[in-house]
Amino acid sequence: GVPEMPLRPIAERRVSRRIEVGPVAVGGGAPVSVQSMTTTRTSDIGATLQQIAELTASGCQIVRVACPTQDDADALATIARKSQIPVIADIHFQPKYVFAAIEAGCAAVRVNPGNIKQFDDQVKEIARAAKDHGTPIRIGVNAGSLDRRLLQKYGKATPEALVESALWEASLFEEHGFRDIKISVKHSDPVIMVNAYRLLAERCDYPLHLGVTEAGPAFQGTIKSAVAFGALLSEGIGDTIRVSLSAPPAEEVKVGIQILESLNLRQRRLEIVSCPSCGRAQVDVYKLADQVTAGLEGMEVPLRVAVMGCVVNGPGEAREADLGVASGNGKGQIFVKGEVIKTVPESKIVETLIEEAMKIAEQMEQDGVTS
Ligand code: SF4
Repeated sequence: GVPEMPLRPIAERRVSRRIEVGPVAVGGGAPVSVQSMTTTRTSDIGATLQQIAELTASGCQIVRVACPTQDDADALATIARKSQIPVIADIHFQPKYVFAAIEAGCAAVRVNPGNIKQFDDQVKEIARAAKDHGTPIRIGVNAGSLDRRLLQKYGKATPEALVESALWEASLFEEHGFRDIKISVKHSDPVIMVNAYRLLAERCDYPLHLGVTEAGPAFQGTIKSAVAFGALLSEGIGDTIRVSLSAPPAEEVKVGIQILESLNLRQRRLEIVSCPSCGRAQVDVYKLADQVTAGLEGMEVPLRVAVMGCVVNGPGEAREADLGVASGNGKGQIFVKGEVIKTVPESKIVETLIEEAMKIAEQMEQDGVTS
């Protein structure tokens, strides 16, 4: 195989059990995976598979589909078979849909046994079916759907309440010898969410699915998720992540991947190190950074490219990068590994950087470095 660049992740990972979501391992030291959820009607098989294909192309590793009706349940077998990535069925109350999802070959099911118990207690049968098919289950506790008993006990969805709820849910499966479980304790407030996961991480060894629920529109949701996941992942907590945005799901995946790359939990690909610009800038840094980013999109090697607005800090910063430019006087000094290799007029900066990037990428590929 091709040797990877050594990763230096931000922290040692918490030791957790490992489950297999189809071909994707979660927990037990497996790389942190990125997941998302479709927004189509699951019963619309064509549209759902189309969205799954888009998610797959954006780097999504596991996809969840909602299953609120019989028509959705009926669609699961085809979707699970044709999807390029493992499919998790998301079920709230009806045991019959859980059985259908397991039979359909879904890679996992998200269901809370507490809900099942409340109406038609088939937790034992679910545990058996899941075990027979090797189907893991995610227990997903949300602030919004917290057990009434715990709401009364704690007054609101505190970290303790979320964790007590999750561990109680898990115990309903454990009673039947079923431990192929991952857990989430989501809250829309990152502080409560972070504390809930910290507590949960101490109290069990199940792999954890991180999420800030109802995080909001793209900007706010991105920040909330990045901050919360960053806090937890920097303590080694978290085995799979889902960024929730009120935006197309492929956006969630992009954000999730970027969070993992930022923490060295995943090999960085192209990284543009551009300065924020200031009164010394002698070029439109934003435009230049955008042009360079667009020009280098799709490069598969972990290349660090510096785009600096002036020659004051430019060369210093560019030295840390594989490639860089520092602008001044209508020209750009092009750096490779910290050495000025040429000076070009401003109009040639982007094409020169792309040219040099290609050369370096070729060399990296020959040396067997890929992302
Ligand atoms: Fe300002 Fe130059 Fe630093 Fe950019 S590199 S922020 S222009 S001093």
